[in-house]
Amino acid sequence: MSDKYQSFSQSPIGKLLVKNLGLPAPMPLERYTPGAPLVDGTVVTGGTGRLAESLAGLLDTLGIASTETPDDTTSYKGLVFDATGLTSADQLVALRDFFTPLMRRLATCPRVVVLGTPPEQVSGAERVAQRALEGFTRSLGKEIGRGGTVQLVYVAEGAEAATTSTLGFLLSPKSAYVSGQVVRIGATGTTEAAPVADQLRPLDGRVALVTGASRGIGEQIARVLHRDGATVVGVDVPQAASELQSLMKELDGDWLTLDITGKDAPQRIAHHLAEKHGGVDVVVHNAGITRDKKLANMGEDRWDSVVAVNLTAPERISRELLDQGVVNAGGSIIGVASIAGIAGNVGQTNYATSKAGVIGLVDSLKDELSDGITVNAVAPGFIVTQMTAAVPFATREVGQRLNAMAQGGLPVDVAETIAWYASPGSTAVNGNVVRVCGQMMLGA
Ligand code: NAD
Repeated sequence: MSDKYQSFSQSPIGKLLVKNLGLPAPMPLERYTPGAPLVDGTVVTGGTGRLAESLAGLLDTLGIASTETPDDTTSYKGLVFDATGLTSADQLVALRDFFTPLMRRLATCPRVVVLGTPPEQVSGAERVAQRALEGFTRSLGKEIGRGGTVQLVYVAEGAEAATTSTLGFLLSPKSAYVSGQVVRIGATGTTEAAPVADQLRPLDGRVALVTGASRGIGEQIARVLHRDGATVVGVDVPQAASELQSLMKELDGDWLTLDITGKDAPQRIAHHLAEKHGGVDVVVHNAGITRDKKLANMGEDRWDSVVAVNLTAPERISRELLDQGVVNAGGSIIGVASIAGIAGNVGQTNYATSKAGVIGLVDSLKDELSDGITVNAVAPGFIVTQMTAAVPFATREVGQRLNAMAQGGLPVDVAETIAWYASPGSTAVNGNVVRVCGQMMLGA
């Protein structure tokens, strides 16, 4: 499913038209290749806060080269600024002082990360300054261009050493389609990260359940979790059994064919995971459906089926697995929401209700979980799948250009974000909803 407009815009005549007519210029995004260095270049670090001193060491454990003293000839692949030391609005100028001279020194698909303190954990002038960081990163994300991304990571006091897995994700091509996001580390749950023995296979020895695994985004999630070392247990409806089985055989995984809305589905899944695998470490609620109609024409079946698959099933399955003690210590539960659940969408009152409910599920579980178990969600924007290929040309064009990257994302972009949540190094990443949307212009 090639992006024809993107290919055209890269041709000599296309480049000329894009420039003269001010058309969107979607840059081919770099994506992660297994075995390649996480960052193909050097990262400049700066700032004076709680993380400044340890930053170089944290990046070094990931094999990422960094410098505090950039020169005038190198193109840099990333910038990390520790803003946790900013305690009042007049100090925010430190952002301009650090970034402005470096903005013309960036390589293609550059990465920018600003580190702050969760505003809710501080007060007075410091709270004002820390909250202000969000406007800076969201705006820079919209203007950086060239396939670049910009994120704000709020690191709670005591969680400094737990930022490694997040820096690895946000500085690497794994986060190709994630931009303008705010991530919280250690704000709820633990402030510690579990050790990662093998950075290339962080999920070695772990079991991952993926619903709706036979195709689309679910298939990519299964592939990426397998690449990272997990044994994947795929779930899908009986109609998709043959695709599910052949994929799971290819990935040396296991499968279970059932409808997740079935009355006894949570019990069957829990029983299967406990008996055959001794528990589960990663639970990805990916299965989802749309049944679009404006509310005036919304039949009961459309409403019920969408809420049942997208929200009630993840909720019931999560509760059953937790109540039965099937989720192992340090495990992660991951929901798949949608931009529609944040911004709303015409014809999708049922779908947006269910997807906003997935965000509610993260909120409700995040403070309840114990034993280092985390809950987070992704909210994909326009992802190029067979489903979106069927959308009429004009609607599809608008849908995929209305973001800071002027293109749709790939299923692998959602899968990489899920793999970051799933890593044992991310035990302090809890209660987050990260959009995988190329910083879509819709919604917050
Ligand atoms: P898809 O239709 O290609 O795949 C969904 C999978 O879920 C299918 O294999 C299907 O058989 C399975 N499934 C559906 N109902 C089920 C049930 N009752 N029990 C078990 N399995 C069931 O969809 P996709 O585009 O890959 O989307 C995956 C997830 O991402 C969904 O939750 C979707 O809402 C979400 N999402 C997708 C996009 C996008 O642009 N494609 C955007 C935002 C969110």
